[in-house]
Amino acid sequence: MPISSRRKSVAFFITLGSCLVALAVALNVGWVLLNWREVALLVLGIIFFVLIIVGLVLNTTFLIREIRRNEQHDAFINSVTHELKTPIASIRLYLETLKSRDVGEERRREFYDIMLADSDRLLRTVEQVLRAGRAGHRQRSALSTVVDLGEVVRECMELARVRYKLDGDSLVFAERLDGEPARVAGDPEELQTAVSNLLDNAVKYSGGEVRVSVELAALGDRRVAVRVADSGVGIPATQLKRIFKRFYRVQGDFMARVKGTGLGLFIVRSIVERHGGRVFAESAGLGRGSTFTIQLPRA
Ligand code: ADP
Repeated sequence: MPISSRRKSVAFFITLGSCLVALAVALNVGWVLLNWREVALLVLGIIFFVLIIVGLVLNTTFLIREIRRNEQHDAFINSVTHELKTPIASIRLYLETLKSRDVGEERRREFYDIMLADSDRLLRTVEQVLRAGRAGHRQRSALSTVVDLGEVVRECMELARVRYKLDGDSLVFAERLDGEPARVAGDPEELQTAVSNLLDNAVKYSGGEVRVSVELAALGDRRVAVRVADSGVGIPATQLKRIFKRFYRVQGDFMARVKGTGLGLFIVRSIVERHGGRVFAESAGLGRGSTFTIQLPRA
């Protein structure tokens, strides 16, 4: 073979060899790249899939929550309208009767008492709505006054006795203190609202016979507790935390008959938390009564 043709064939075989090596490398690298891409695509696919599913779940949860909140707002507006209209209608009726007829002195006094009770009810509803609005804005008020919680509780009980015409057996009080009075730093009016709301609920959700017991107890020397226990309709275990949310009301036959705004416990919780304490509910179940406990730091 002449040198030129040998060189040509060497060049050819070197080129062929190089081409084959390049092809093999290209094939191998390509194969690796292709597979790596597939693996990468697979991993990306899984990540996107998980993200889409999480997004869907979040979206659905958000939607359901919004729908529930809307329902609660509707129920709230209905009950507030009812709570505002009923006493006004009643006051109007008595005023019209007083205007158009000659009523005896005794009846007249009775009418005045009813109208006063109705205007109290009206005022309570308006105050509750205003308080809930303020609680929503987490306004900070000065909590520097030292308040005797025992006194607050006794005043609230007296108010409840008069308001709901309760005798000594229906509403009982027990004090388990360690010799020292239960003093807390706070706003006496707000603390009264919190305790009164619990008492109002205890009577309202008693069902038939009212049997409410209130206890003021020392929890060591740092905290005090007020417990309001009733033997009424009770609360299902799943709802014990939710009832403190704004507008939340337990659904059910009995609950539908008892009117309310779903604001009371929300107000209680905001007041107690502002005082550095906590409030929680316990119940053995439906029909077995409930106990609400407010714990506050001692002054
Ligand atoms: P309202 O009484 O106006 O509905 P609240 O915020 O005071 O609003 O109470 C929220 C819900 O908690 C009530 O609708 C009721 O279902 C439940 N609840 C509150 N107190 C009691 C109680 N003592 N016994 C049973 N259920 C209660």
